[in-house]
Amino acid sequence: MARYIFITGGVVSSLGKGLASAALGALLQARGYSVRLRKLDPYLNVDPGTMSPFEHGEVFVTDDGAETDLDLGHYERFTGVAARKTDSISSGRVYSTVLEKERRGDYLGKTIQVIPHVTNEIKEFLKIGDDEVDFMLCEIGGTVGDIEGLPFFEAIRQFSHDKPRGECIFMHLTLLPYLAASGELKTKPTQHSVKELQSIGIAPDILVCRSEHPIPEKEREKIALFCNVRKDAVVAAYDLKSIYEAPLAYHKQGLDQAVLDTFGISPAPAPKLEMWHDVYDRIHNYDGEVKIAIVGKYTQLEDAYKSIAEALTHGGMANRVKVKIEWVDAELFDREDAAPFLEGYHAILVPGGFGERGTEGKIKAAQFAREKNIPYLGICLGMQMAVIEAARNVAGITTAGSEEFDHETGSKRFEPVVYHLKEWVQGNHTVARSAGDNKGGTMRLGAYNATLAEGSKVAEVYGTTHIEERHRHRYEVDTKYREQLENVGLCFSGMSPDGKLPEIVEWQDHPWFIGVQYHPELKSKPFSPHPLFAGFVRAAVENSRLV
Ligand code: GLN
Repeated sequence: MARYIFITGGVVSSLGKGLASAALGALLQARGYSVRLRKLDPYLNVDPGTMSPFEHGEVFVTDDGAETDLDLGHYERFTGVAARKTDSISSGRVYSTVLEKERRGDYLGKTIQVIPHVTNEIKEFLKIGDDEVDFMLCEIGGTVGDIEGLPFFEAIRQFSHDKPRGECIFMHLTLLPYLAASGELKTKPTQHSVKELQSIGIAPDILVCRSEHPIPEKEREKIALFCNVRKDAVVAAYDLKSIYEAPLAYHKQGLDQAVLDTFGISPAPAPKLEMWHDVYDRIHNYDGEVKIAIVGKYTQLEDAYKSIAEALTHGGMANRVKVKIEWVDAELFDREDAAPFLEGYHAILVPGGFGERGTEGKIKAAQFAREKNIPYLGICLGMQMAVIEAARNVAGITTAGSEEFDHETGSKRFEPVVYHLKEWVQGNHTVARSAGDNKGGTMRLGAYNATLAEGSKVAEVYGTTHIEERHRHRYEVDTKYREQLENVGLCFSGMSPDGKLPEIVEWQDHPWFIGVQYHPELKSKPFSPHPLFAGFVRAAVENSRLV
């Protein structure tokens, strides 16, 4: 049976609970244990799939097709453990399950209440797969004291009592603000936050204290005393240059040791940290820099493209260069010449997106990259825009567009080079969709296989002709135009195994121009960079040497 580590946060939000959880997961793995990480989110959306990236950052998609919180991306990037549908839950999902059961008559005769019905549902969720791993790390979203988080806190409190003593521990993240005027770190907000936790029956075993300044021994003692934790369980978390330093930094501060001590695991197996030392070395020791433009719509919030930014960093690490990402708003050149906005970059990436805003700019970005021989990686919408660009400007289909938008193509109906996908094969069954479907959870989601053309650039990049990648899209490039596009040099170099859905396109007479219908960024890891990102950054390096 798994031991459970519950991770909560206090004082302020955005303290890096997800990262701390992920880094702890990596450290436990380095000690030889198996782990799984879970996120419990108090919001009422059933999943983040329908939220704007501006609200919630990127939606992370799992192999089994769940649309989840971006923290699951951190978990995967640090532990390499593929997340599942059952690793993410929200109040919305819990309540909708409870209400479904109520309608079905599962609780016949009973009054349905937060305690026990909602809390029981949360506890059932926590137990899934508890016989598969040594440690289950469960992060509660939000901050202690939030009204909507209460059922989750109550559920984990009860859960720790349902389990034998010593099988669950609580780790709480707080902030030690620094008062410049008096030159002091203040511990009072941490004390208050722990009080808040204690008032709902949870006594933290470990406190992780975010601080911009070194925590003096005296303050650490004070925190231990006032917050009722052991002194060596007060762990400092300082700001880092790169998130990938976190496992080594937390290890240095004694986090994994404190966790194992709290569980009474002694002697603790020694950690094997070579992989993280190598990651550290690649972040700090690089030879040169490349400048890559991400031409998108949600450019004001970098979290909207979290996994892409991380995958580019991994691509840099693979090539021992630093990748400088610049965010370019596609809307700026929807109606203007793109050149002044895109000149000087060593490569251009057009990421995924939804809705029409900014798409003409993205089409121009694809054109600019094609004409100027600049490495281009188009992801999902970025691939669809590259195909529309090819159709309009090279294949002579001047009114080419996507059914997702109302392209302005004069009085004539546009040619739907990208159409609304209504039917596809998943495993051994056919999935059907219609335009009137609910928006939530109805896209082509999760892992699907693709077959790559022998001798194509993409087969060379992957080093294989069979791949599996994660998808999240409603629209698809129409094979009706394949011949016309291939005749002008846009090769359909990756297809779904049944040959019906284009997965990859590439320009033959271009140093590196690849568009993919899926999201390769979701599978990249610092210790195992995704081949497309490693290849794309390599192409950027080569391009940078030409100029
Ligand atoms: N909006 C496009 C679609 O649904 C692209 C989706 C994406 O980029 N993830 O097909």
